Parts: sequence; structure tokens; C-alpha cells
Amino acid sequence: MLMLSVGGILFTSMLLLSALTLFQKGNIEDRLLDNNLAYARKLADTTDRYLVTAQRELAYSAEQIKNLNNIEQLKSEAERLRLQSGFFNSVVIVNSDAIIAAASPESLNLVGLKLHSKASVQAIEAKKSYISEPFVSAAGNYVVFISQPLFSSSGNYIGYIGGTIYLQKESMLSDILSMHFYEKGTDVSVINDNGKIIFNSDPKLIGTNLKSVPDYYAEILKKQSGHFFGDSKSGGSLIGYASLQQADWKIIISGASEGVSRILLETVVNAFWFTLAIIVLTITAVTVFATRISTPLEKLAECTRAEDGESTIKKLSNIKVWYKEAERLKDALSLHLQIMARRVSVLSDEAMKDPLTKLYNRKGFSSSLKQYRQSDEHCVIAIDIDHFKKINDKYGHDGGDAVLVAFSDKLRELCLSGHVICRFGGEEFVVLLPYTDMSDASTLAEHIREGIEHAHFPYADKVTISLGVAGFSDNENDVYAVLRKADLALYEAKRSGRNKVIISAPQETTVS
Ligand code: GH3
Ligand code: MG
Ligand code: MG
Repeated sequence: MLMLSVGGILFTSMLLLSALTLFQKGNIEDRLLDNNLAYARKLADTTDRYLVTAQRELAYSAEQIKNLNNIEQLKSEAERLRLQSGFFNSVVIVNSDAIIAAASPESLNLVGLKLHSKASVQAIEAKKSYISEPFVSAAGNYVVFISQPLFSSSGNYIGYIGGTIYLQKESMLSDILSMHFYEKGTDVSVINDNGKIIFNSDPKLIGTNLKSVPDYYAEILKKQSGHFFGDSKSGGSLIGYASLQQADWKIIISGASEGVSRILLETVVNAFWFTLAIIVLTITAVTVFATRISTPLEKLAECTRAEDGESTIKKLSNIKVWYKEAERLKDALSLHLQIMARRVSVLSDEAMKDPLTKLYNRKGFSSSLKQYRQSDEHCVIAIDIDHFKKINDKYGHDGGDAVLVAFSDKLRELCLSGHVICRFGGEEFVVLLPYTDMSDASTLAEHIREGIEHAHFPYADKVTISLGVAGFSDNENDVYAVLRKADLALYEAKRSGRNKVIISAPQETTVS
């Protein structure tokens, strides 16, 4: 029962854990995808704010500069802009001929240089607020460039003020993008409208193009923001992306599929320990209950194996049962044992008695003898009907039987209740007189002889008997020796004329 319960619990727990693993995997993937999208949107928003603020800073500086003649003012403005906000890694003030009028830091030695970069050309052409594509700057750094046009007091375009932001080196932008407190194994990339990676925590990837993975790139172009399952070749399988407002850039958050496995493993391990605790508790409870259920059943089973009916019935009544089924079993067993005990007692009673006269037979005699200590004073009287053969011969066997039955009834009348009357065979009888001395035994024998002599029997009418009396104490308390002695005395009674009592010990004496 216990094994069945424990097996059931273990099997169910295993099924539950498997189901949990199966369903949780999908949940975790969905959750991570949603998280990656949300994080991409948040980073896009933060980067937008950064760009807006950077442009505002540039716009303020542009307002301060109305001509490019005051070199000192230009220098200090460039320096202030770079150092005060920390948005830019370098600041340049360039005239409409693309020649640098002032730069910060000065150590770059850029003043007087003519800028030929595409970004500079486009900034001059645009004559308005401008964010460049990433490019390699005059100082050899991989940068993006943000600029604001400069106008004279009369409103003529005189150049621009621009700030560069390093993409591969430390900058405020790279700090914003890389210092994230998000899921382990999550990667942040920024791509421009051409698919070029302009930011990644791995500097080697910066400058490479996402177009080389067409499926991946196509997915990202589909919407302003979204999420999808990428393949492992593209570095991560759970992708969330979002577009910026201020530039044609996209932030891509990719979480490796190992993240799912790790979270899943953590969930399953936690669930396993929880399940284990439940299993231990349940098994303990099942063991306690199973023991409580099986204990009365085992005790009842023990009762069925016992040989002694009487004591078993007693034992059975002491067994405590606390549930209905066991109580019914106990009642049934008790009834069964009682019936069996009754049957056994009837059977053993029948086995002990002579069927014709209902007196004890030899077996009954031996069994009755067991309840008396043989060392005490007991006597036996051996009785034999005189000339019984003649009755048989004259009235037939049935007539003889009728005489035997009537004789037995008379013998019962003549004896006392404590006497054990037995038919030893044919027309021979033995009466055991417990705790009786020889004198009382002789008196009783004579009383029996007389009683029979004066009684009337069917068919034969008159019957006489010969009796031999012997005592235990005179025969070393050996019952067979006592019976032999009583038999010898009986033989003597026959020999000496019948219808008399002979007392065997100490010397055989004739009473009448
Ligand atoms: P004695 O006075 O010497 O005892 O002579 P007896 O005839 O009584 O003794 P004997 O041993 O010669 O005969 C006993 C007879 O009892 C012989 C047998 O047929 C008969 N007998 C034995 N058992 C039964 C029985 O169950 N029913 C009947 N009807 N007769 C029996
Ligand atoms: Mg006889
Ligand atoms: Mg005989």
C-alpha cells in the first residue's frame, strides 16, 4: 500500500515537473521578448533625450557666436561646451569654408585644418541642425557628429559648431548604452538607417553591417519597434528593437537563448526543491496513515493464524480498530472464530463420547483425567455386565444395545456429578472418582452394584454387574497401573461368582 502511494506521488511529481518545464519555457521566452522590447524602447527614449539635450546645448552655444573673428571667444565657448555638459568628446567651430576656427580639446591641434569629411560637407550644405552618420574623424576616432549652424547678426550663414561623440571609446552615449542593469547575456546594439552597427559592447562589431544577415535585418526594418525570434547565427535568439526620434537609428536588444535555459533551470530547480519538500511531507503522512491502517489488519491476520480459539476471541476483542472496514472485518472474524470454536467443541465432544450411550469413551477418560493432579487421591471402579452375551443371544444385538443404553442411564443416576463415567468397550465401564479415598469408592461401588441389581431393564429385566475398585495412591499414581489393578479385581469378582465388588488394594478384598 505504502509503495503504491509513494510510487504514485513520485510519478505525479515527475509529470508536474515535466509539465512545468514545458509550459514555463514558452512563458519565459514570451516574457524575455517583451522585456527586450520594453528595454529597447526605454534605451531609445533615453538616447533621444540625450540627443535633444546635446542639440539644445549646441543651439545655445550657436546663439552666443555671431562672428568668427573673436578667436578667444570661440575657444572659450568650445571649451565650455565640451567640459560643462560632458556630452561631447570634442567640439569644433568651423567656418563656411569648412576650416576649423576653434577646437576643444586644443591638444588635437585642429585649428586651421580644412574638413573634408562627408559629415562636415553635409552640415555646411544643410545649414541646419544635423546628426551625421558614423565616420572616422580628422583625429582618427570613430565618431558621430552633431552640429548647429552659426549665423551672423544679419542672419548670414557663417559656419557651424559641432560636437563629436566617440563610439568606440568612452563617451556619455556609450555610457548610457552600455551601463545597463538588465538580464545577464543581453547585448545592446545601435544601428543607423543603413544597417551599420554604430554601437556595440564589442568594439570589433562597430562599423560592421547588419545587412550581412538579411533575414535579421529585414525583421528589424518591418516596424518602428517590435520583437521576434532571431537565429543563433545572429548572436541572440530573443530580439527586441525600437527606433529613435532624433536620428534614424535603431536600438536592438538581443538576449541569448541560454538566458531562457538558465531561468528555466532556476525555475525547475526551485520547483524541484518545493516538490521534494511536499513529497517528503506526503510520504511521511502516507507512511503514518498506512501504518495506522495496516496495524489492525495485521493483528486481525495474526488472529486467523492462532490455534486456540477461545484465547484468540479474547485477543480479538482487545484489538482496537478505528475505521469502519476494519471494524466490519473484526466483527466477521469474531463471528467466524466463535462458530469455529463451537464446531470444534462439538466435534471434540463427539470424539470424546460413545455414540450409543453418550458416556465418555477411552479418549474422554484420558482427557478428563488431565484436569486432576495424579498425585492426589483418586479411585477408579471397573464394571462389567455379567453374562451379557446371553442377553445378546436371547434378544438380539438391538436388545443388547437397549440394555446398554438403559444401563448407562442407571449408572448416571447412581453416580455423583463429579464422577467421570466411561464406556471402555462392549459391556465394560470405568468410573473415575476424583478426590475420593478407597473407602468411599468401595461404598459407591457397592451402591452401584445394588442399584443395578434392583433395577429393571428392557428385554432382560434383571441385570447384575461385577466391579473392581483400585486407588491411585496405592499404584504409584500410574493411571494404567490403576486400571490394570481395577481390571484384575473385576476379573477376581467374575471368577469368584459375579455380582460383587472386589477392592484391589492393599489386598484384594471381597465386599459382598
Ligand atoms: P461375563 O459374565 O464373563 O462377562 O460374560 P459375558 O457374556 O458378559 O462376556 P463376553 O466377553 O463373553 O461377551 C460380551 C459380549 O458383549 C460379546 C459381544 O457380542 C457383546 N457386545 C460387545 N459390544 C456390544 C455392543 O455394542 N452391543 C451389543 N448388543 N453387544 C455387544
Ligand atoms: Mg460381561
Ligand atoms: Mg466383558
